Amino acid sequence: MQIIKTNKSRLKEVNFSNLPFGTVFSDHMFICKYKDGKWVEPKIIPYGPIEMNPGAKVLHYGQSIFEGMKAFKNSNNELLLFRKDDNFIRLNKSAIRLSIPQIPKDIFMNGLEKLISLDNEWCKKDDGYSLYIRPFVYASEDGVKASTAQEFTFIIITSPSTRYYSGDINLLVEEKYTRAPQGGVGFAKAAGNYAASFYPTRQANKKGFQQVVWTDSIEHKYIEECGTMNIWFRIGDKLVTPQLSDSILDGITRKSVIALAKDMGIDVQEKKISVKELFEAYNDNKLTEVFGSGTAVGISPIRSITFRSDKMSFTNNNDSISSRLKSKLQSIQKGEDFDSHNWITKIN
Ligand SMILES: *Cc1c(COP(=O)(O)O)cnc(C)c1O
Repeated sequence: MQIIKTNKSRLKEVNFSNLPFGTVFSDHMFICKYKDGKWVEPKIIPYGPIEMNPGAKVLHYGQSIFEGMKAFKNSNNELLLFRKDDNFIRLNKSAIRLSIPQIPKDIFMNGLEKLISLDNEWCKKDDGYSLYIRPFVYASEDGVKASTAQEFTFIIITSPSTRYYSGDINLLVEEKYTRAPQGGVGFAKAAGNYAASFYPTRQANKKGFQQVVWTDSIEHKYIEECGTMNIWFRIGDKLVTPQLSDSILDGITRKSVIALAKDMGIDVQEKKISVKELFEAYNDNKLTEVFGSGTAVGISPIRSITFRSDKMSFTNNNDSISSRLKSKLQSIQKGEDFDSHNWITKIN
C-alpha cells in the first residue's frame, strides 16, 4: 500500500481540552477506489479535500454508507481497537442493501490498522479520550442516470474525541414521522437514514426535547430506537430492548450491552415493546431506568420520555444498571479489565 505522509502535522495545533465531537480530524486518511469491478489503489494520504464531479451519483441518489468505531489507549500508551470485525461485517451488510460492492477484508483491515497506527498520537491515553473512526463508502461515478454506480470510493478518516457529556436527554415519542420503514434501509448505516431524521428531530428540539423516540412506521405503537442510539429499559429486574428488525440498527454497543448484562447475571429480553406497555410498567413502578447505547456516546441515561401529554421521568445513580454497564464497558475498552469476549485488538 502506498503511504504518503503529511509534511506538516496539525497535531500541535489541536486543543485536546476542547474537542467538540467529530470536528477535528487526524493528519491522514485511507482511500481506495472501486473501478472495473475491483477495489484498487488503496493508499494513505494526508487528510484533505477529495475531488468529485458534480455529477457524482452520491450527490443525487444518496448511495452512501458508513461505520462508526473507536480505538482507545491503555495506560502503557498502546492503541486498542474495539470490535473491528463487527464493524467490518456490518459495513458489508450495509453495502449489500445499498447495492455497493463489498469491501475485501484485507483492504479494510490493512487500511484501518496502518492508518490508526500512523496517527496513533492523535489518541490520548488520559481518561475519556478515544479515537473515533469513520469508514464510509459512496458512489463516486460521474453520471445522473438513476441506477447503481459502477465506481465507488471507500475512505477512512479518524477524529480524536473526548467523552461527551450530552447533558440531560429528554425524549419525545414520535408519532408522525419515521426514521426507517419496514422493508427499507433502517438496519443499514445508510447516510440517507440520517437525512430523514433531521427534520423530525429539529421539530422535537423546538419543543425542548433533545431527541425523539422512533416508533414503528405502521402503527407508531412500538418502540424502535432513540435518536441515533439503541434504547434500553429496566423493567423490574429485567433489561428489555426492542428486538432487531429491518428498521432497527444492529448496534455493536447494543451487542456489547447484551453480553455484559448477561455476564452480570441480568436477564436480557429482546422483544417488541409498545409505548402503552412502558407507561403501564412505569405506573406500576416497575420501569425504573432508560438508557441509550451507541459508539459515539457510549451508554447514556435518559432523563424523561414524553408521549402526547404524559411524561415519565427517571433519575440515574452510580448503582443503576446503566452506570454499571458503562463503567464495565469503558474498562474493557481501555484495557483495564480482562477482555473475556475478545473484543480488543492491540495495534502496533
Ligand atoms: C450507529 C447507530 C447506532 C449505534 O450502533 P453502534 O454500533 O452501537 O455504534 C444505533 N442506531 C442507529 C440508527 C445508528 O446509526
